[in-house]
Amino acid sequence: MADAGVTLKELKERPVTDLHGVNSRKAEMLQKIEVISVLDLITVYPRRYIDRSKQTTIGDLTVGEEGMVLVAVSKVTTRRMRNRRSLVEVTVKDETGQMRLVFFNQPWRSKQLSEDKEIIIFGRLDQYQGNNQMTNPVVDLVGDRTGRIVAVYPQSEVAGVQSWDLDTLIAEALRRVMKVRGFEDPVPKEIRESYRLVDRSTAFLQIHRPGSMQEVAEARRRLVFDELLRIQLELVQRKVQLERSTKGISHNPSGVLTTVFHEQLPYVLTDAQKRVIDEISADLKKDSPMHRLLQGDVGSGKTVVAVTALLSVVQGGHQGAFMAPTEVLAEQHYLGISELLQNVNVEDDSTLLGQRPLRVELLTSSVSLTQRKTMVEKLANGSIDIVVGTHALIQNEISFSSLGIVVIDEQHRFGVDQRAALREKQSDGMVPDVLVMTATPIPRTAAMTVYGDLDVSILDEMPLGRIPIETLWITEEQAAWASICGEVREGRQAYVVCPLIDESDSLNVRSAEETFTRLSNEVFPDLRVELLHGRIKTNEKNHIMEKFRQGEVDVLVATTVIEVGVDVPNATVMVVLDAYRFGIAQLHQLRGRVGRGSSSSTCFLVGDAGTAVGEERLKALVQTTDGFELAEVDLELRGEGTIMADRQKGRNDLRLASLRRDREWVEIAREVALEIVDEDPDLNNYQGLKKEISVVLKESDGEYLLRS
Ligand code: ADP
Ligand code: MG
Repeated sequence: MADAGVTLKELKERPVTDLHGVNSRKAEMLQKIEVISVLDLITVYPRRYIDRSKQTTIGDLTVGEEGMVLVAVSKVTTRRMRNRRSLVEVTVKDETGQMRLVFFNQPWRSKQLSEDKEIIIFGRLDQYQGNNQMTNPVVDLVGDRTGRIVAVYPQSEVAGVQSWDLDTLIAEALRRVMKVRGFEDPVPKEIRESYRLVDRSTAFLQIHRPGSMQEVAEARRRLVFDELLRIQLELVQRKVQLERSTKGISHNPSGVLTTVFHEQLPYVLTDAQKRVIDEISADLKKDSPMHRLLQGDVGSGKTVVAVTALLSVVQGGHQGAFMAPTEVLAEQHYLGISELLQNVNVEDDSTLLGQRPLRVELLTSSVSLTQRKTMVEKLANGSIDIVVGTHALIQNEISFSSLGIVVIDEQHRFGVDQRAALREKQSDGMVPDVLVMTATPIPRTAAMTVYGDLDVSILDEMPLGRIPIETLWITEEQAAWASICGEVREGRQAYVVCPLIDESDSLNVRSAEETFTRLSNEVFPDLRVELLHGRIKTNEKNHIMEKFRQGEVDVLVATTVIEVGVDVPNATVMVVLDAYRFGIAQLHQLRGRVGRGSSSSTCFLVGDAGTAVGEERLKALVQTTDGFELAEVDLELRGEGTIMADRQKGRNDLRLASLRRDREWVEIAREVALEIVDEDPDLNNYQGLKKEISVVLKESDGEYLLRS
């Protein structure tokens, strides 16, 4: 690199104790907030900034309006109120006057705000008994910091680390870096210029010591870009390496099988289905294995797309495996796929007619041992074309004659381990193509980050003629029960989903049993009610589902076991009890169990809002049935946590970037990463970036993202 500045790697290797003013006691305090190296330190970013140009004086504050003032503490008193809560009263003054601050239930304020301390407060001026006061204002102890914009760092009471400690140390660290060589900038100038990014030294200086809020924004852009670029480079590189290091089968997706299949469908494919089929076909043709995620809302018609891919593979004499998360779903998919394929024949020169029916089989644990043995043989000798089963299909002893594709329903992560397992299924070292399907949409940019080593296809269009599901949020159950009675009288069926008590299965099962007893004895004594939950044995579960499918059950009381994939078009009512306890995605999945037939369906969300967020969730569900829209709302309400749950633990590299706020930058980073890796897969000309990816992403995002 031309500019031999200080690298992040060097800063990672340098302990904070090397800084002036960090003794062992301070180092210990810093360790509590996970600051060990100088890099850790300078990537503790300000939580917010105080813009002191907005500062006024006590005399200029207006009652009823917010304002910021620099004041000195003149008196502090603590009282206990009758309800035993504490009340800290603080008198503050500046040269224009004085006022009172009151803090409810923050006893530690009396220690924090000792006499003569200078503080900046921000709050709304009220009047109480004729006196000016602020209640629970934001307080910043700025020490002797001057300057127009003051950075406020996350303080930790536990660790005893104050904003100004960090401020001083970070300033010292930056001063040292700048005094030697400044930061090395590993991002080429052309890229920086085309996205108008400031250089790295400027970014670090401006995020910590900005001259204006404009400078903060510039610095943030650059640092956000860096965080996202590192992740994308890692993912894209990983993806490309995988493609290059493995050999796949080049299939023929435009053969007669798929054409015949599409011609005999009772409907025309939606434009989205056609587009996605094209995307998959392009992958199948290549001789590197496909690794694609298909996102499509409930009912968007993923099955037809999957079957098309399976047929493309069977066309060339290879086999396909379709894996579902549960045995109930495997069975259902088996029935659905067999029906779709009943009129499709495969060329076979060894037969009299030169063709034979396509052979689809179901392999689950309920298959008898002898049957299983025969099937295992048939899979090995190639006389089964498509096998349907659970995710365990590829993990056991089964070997295939020539496995060409694996379709995985409702499993988001199909990781490196499973891919390795697949490789072993092929004697000649050719890796099957993989299509992962999910009905739980996640926003595009989040998908790019979490599933960045996959290609993503989206079915964003519903087949025509679907009757929209009406969603009602009701606080009393009666309306829902009345609706069920009405529908059952018309020959339809209903689901009742029981309150989710907590994560523990046993409590949820009990709640389901109680609900079942109440409904079958008191509410619907004349209807055929059945219970389904996770503790019921597989055979029994299958039996109950079969009865429900056959219309021999009117009301199915269940836990979330019915959340994914259950497909009974005659069911038209979905009732979710204590709906606020479920997440948006879950409610959306549950609702998707109805509205699958030709009559109109209703989904009742029962109960209070629970919390403010609960209310937002329920309202969103009432408002829209679009899964992608709901996914955005979910991300908005819950933050990154929804998707990045595991990464929130401990340190990770997304310190500034937010998948929500910085959507545009996720896309830019992805684009830049693709360009770079395309031209230079091993990052030989990007040594700076390469090194810092291994330093910064190691043991955090990198691993999380790439593990199964
Ligand atoms: P999901 O994406 O939830 O798996 P399915 O593949 O089960 O959706 O399809 C849902 C329903 O829509 C099925 O009954 C299927 O027959 C029907 N379907 C699929 N594609 C179309 C289409 N293009 N036009 C009309 N109906 C369709
Ligand atoms: Mg499905």
